Amino acid sequence: MHLSKLENGLDNYSFSELNTKEASKLKKSFESFKNGLEAKVFGLTAPVAVVDEKEHNKPKERASMIANVSHEIRTPLNGIVGFIELLQETELDPKQRQLVQAMHAASSNLTNIINELLEFSKLSSGHEVFENVPFHLKNLITEVAFLCDTLITDKKVKLVVDLDENLPENLMGDPSKLSQILLNLLGNAVKFVEKGKISLEVAVKSNEKKKVYIQFLVADTGIGIANDKLQYIFDSYKQAEDDTRIKYGGSGLGLSIVKEIVDRMAGLIAVKSTLGAGTTFKVTLPF
Ligand code: ADP
Repeated sequence: MHLSKLENGLDNYSFSELNTKEASKLKKSFESFKNGLEAKVFGLTAPVAVVDEKEHNKPKERASMIANVSHEIRTPLNGIVGFIELLQETELDPKQRQLVQAMHAASSNLTNIINELLEFSKLSSGHEVFENVPFHLKNLITEVAFLCDTLITDKKVKLVVDLDENLPENLMGDPSKLSQILLNLLGNAVKFVEKGKISLEVAVKSNEKKKVYIQFLVADTGIGIANDKLQYIFDSYKQAEDDTRIKYGGSGLGLSIVKEIVDRMAGLIAVKSTLGAGTTFKVTLPF
């Protein structure tokens, strides 16, 4: 309802006529839409009692419905972000520019939440199909490291990549899912490190006849995670501290997506962390 209103509003909206009051109203509308959506998302944490088979299928049905809804939301939302970007290129006075920037930040944040939600629900509904194709491991790591480097805007943080010389050139598996795991872990490292080092180490853990186990270590010298919170961080919508979302943003879905992908790939993930000193994620995957 709110969405279709926004979409209609957009169709009939002429941004060249935007004044400060209207921009501010639009921003408030975005914020309340985003907050409403987040409340719905974060309100989904209540455990579902498994009573009978019908009840048992509910989480899957719910995940499927969320996947459809998030997909539907993405289209108008991309339109909104696109229009805001066009608006940014027009002549604006300083106040308008500030408001439009805030709108851009709010809508981009919403896009990230929707994308994560879509990904998570697709995975948990079992609709996600995993590929099994040949790929070049070192090229994939180079691309991931490049993307991570572009996320590091602070000169006090350095990314170090260390590759085992015994790594096979080519592997069979799902390269985009592997990139997604690494980018999520590295993205978190960038988010939670102020100064120091982020490292990505890739090594052969064991080599069997038809399978090779590769170990990926993503370590950072960031804020760390308290011992009693470590067991919850792979749960959906969970963040280590109550003020994490306020300070750093995020939906608390990234690590549950990573865990789900690792599980589906028959791999293992573990975390070790010291509050105030840093965090290391260890992912072991068979290929
Ligand atoms: P978010 O979108 O909040 O980053 P995640 O599921 O990726 O969600 O992470 C869950 C929580 O785990 C984060 O909110 C943060 O509290 C904690 N966390 C994850 N990675 C790190 C890290 N490298 N350093 C410190 N805390 C982390």
